[in-house]
Amino acid sequence: MRRLAPYQSGLWLAEYGDVRCQLCRIYRSTPQFHLPQNHSSAIPPNNHSFFTKLRQHVNDRFNSGLLCSHCHHSLAWLPKPFEVDIAAGTVLSIQAATYYDYPIRQAIRAFKHHEDMTKLPLLLHVLRQLPRPQGCHRDNSVIVAMPTTNKRLVKRGFDPVSILAAQLSKHWHIPLWHGVERIDNTVSQQGLTRAERLSNLVNAFALIEIPPVKRLILFDDVATTGASLQALGRTLYSQSFSLVGLNSQSTSRYQLSAYALAHGSQL
Ligand SMILES: [Zn+2]
Repeated sequence: MRRLAPYQSGLWLAEYGDVRCQLCRIYRSTPQFHLPQNHSSAIPPNNHSFFTKLRQHVNDRFNSGLLCSHCHHSLAWLPKPFEVDIAAGTVLSIQAATYYDYPIRQAIRAFKHHEDMTKLPLLLHVLRQLPRPQGCHRDNSVIVAMPTTNKRLVKRGFDPVSILAAQLSKHWHIPLWHGVERIDNTVSQQGLTRAERLSNLVNAFALIEIPPVKRLILFDDVATTGASLQALGRTLYSQSFSLVGLNSQSTSRYQLSAYALAHGSQL
């Protein structure tokens, strides 16, 4: 049997064993699957077959929220998507699940910088509010988690983005793809201006294999100016075709979209 990582058993307990809200710690009175879901995996209401109901029940169980309805509604969901350019005439749209504000900001910081796994159920609840990209499924899409450098991985001891991306992959049933690496010569993006962020990221990524599918879903934990996702998008867009030796027109066959857990303010 595959050994569960400590955070996985913590998530399992929060999901099935703990009936308290992961934010206010008050007992969840409303089953979360009765709350309106804004992801597109919902099954049309006019389909009443036994298997559809069963599948709906199983989906609900897996997609059930981890917050009480009050906390669920008190968080401002789904900021408007914003765009960054990745090539002439091509933009990358970035959709975040929420804003980088209280209480998500504190939860992300505790999770990222102090490896506080008790915050993971709250973050997972927020992550599940992201609308599943239309037309994307396991056979035509992959999720590309923002890669980290080996140096940072050693320093931090774990990779928060890959843990979140793995949860998103499970939720959307879209596989992860690890075909991009981050080159170790950049410094942390924190505290840099937009211009500094962009120049810091030139040549920060390299493709190590050709993407297996044409729909690439980029994912990062926090998108502030979107500079990291933009640089990753540019690399995927420009290097994908040079690897397969196609002309630049063929790159339009790659469809890139980007998602983040939270959209940070630049202030
Ligand atoms: Zn609550």
